[in-house]
Amino acid sequence: MKDLYAVAYEVKCRYIGKKVSFRGLIEYSNYCTKNCYYCGIRKGNSHAERYRMSPESVYEAARFAWKASYGSVVLQSGERSDRAFVEEIETLVKGIKKLSNNELGITLSCGEQTEETFARWKDAGAHRYLLRIEASDPAFYRTLHPADHDYYRRLECLKTLRKLGYQNGSGVMFGLPGQTVQHMVKDLLFFKEMDLDMIGMGPYVVHTETPLAASYPDFALHKEELLVLSMKMIACARIFLKDVNIASTTALQSLHPSGREMGLLAGANVIMPNCTPPACKEAYDLYEGKTGAEKTPEETMDELKNTVENIGEEVILNAWGDSPHYAAKDHTF
Ligand code: SAM
Ligand code: SF4
Repeated sequence: MKDLYAVAYEVKCRYIGKKVSFRGLIEYSNYCTKNCYYCGIRKGNSHAERYRMSPESVYEAARFAWKASYGSVVLQSGERSDRAFVEEIETLVKGIKKLSNNELGITLSCGEQTEETFARWKDAGAHRYLLRIEASDPAFYRTLHPADHDYYRRLECLKTLRKLGYQNGSGVMFGLPGQTVQHMVKDLLFFKEMDLDMIGMGPYVVHTETPLAASYPDFALHKEELLVLSMKMIACARIFLKDVNIASTTALQSLHPSGREMGLLAGANVIMPNCTPPACKEAYDLYEGKTGAEKTPEETMDELKNTVENIGEEVILNAWGDSPHYAAKDHTF
């Protein structure tokens, strides 16, 4: 395994450099109209305490990220597609651009939307979109979602985002009940086939108040197994895809206190420090043991900068941190 990580790290250094980009994560709201079987903030979880950040607190979080020189933010939310939500996100994107003199880059991760909505949000100033396919095998996808959650609609959304000129990010979870090595190999092939610019994938972590946990009461990979699986997937993705951005996710840190460093050393190059105010962060309860809920954005920033420096890497400040893969594409549409 050490050899695998070393090769992946070498590929990362060659294509990306010994550099890490930060994206300030803002968990805007946990209201969601969907019912993914694995997710703690699914509509059907009546125990989830719902919140929506006020525009002022979103701007405060974005201003913090800007002042901390993160260069870009990710605005993430449970999925809604009503008119009010579409307008809220549009206003927030415009507001974040304005407060940062157009300097902050904005990634959205707000689920499946119509082409019109994606276009509106792009016109407002968003330039990247993260929409995990969750499982690239349609039959396996169906085991993780209710019948009205359509794999092909999600796939179409990814194609639309590309057509509109967004930097396209997707990814999967791994360590899911019923998932095989073949599924994960297919996932890697899917990333290549979809010509993705960024990969945001992470371990599945059980949330007890979800149908997936109820269907598999005894299922929970040991943290150690899940950590190794995560590192393997990051390393294989880096070796296979070479010049894309790969995130070392918060879920990794919930498996091991140094999980994010380990992800970087296995080939990842992006970290998403959480800028959500602590009270909301706690309620954005996707899975058990989600770390850092009690930490302030300032504490998170200091901790992460140390993490990166400790492994001899440099943080890219005040830049959007686009992947070389995106930069190499022809952007004339
Ligand atoms: N609602 C949007 C969507 O689904 O694309 C964005 C927010 S959603 C909370 C972001 C990601 O959280 C999902 O793509 C999913 O992979 C991940 N997630 C949800 N439940 C999880 C769990 N139990 N373990 C690990 N990741 C989980
Ligand atoms: Fe909603 Fe996203 Fe969770 Fe699915 S994964 S229930 S769409 S927040």
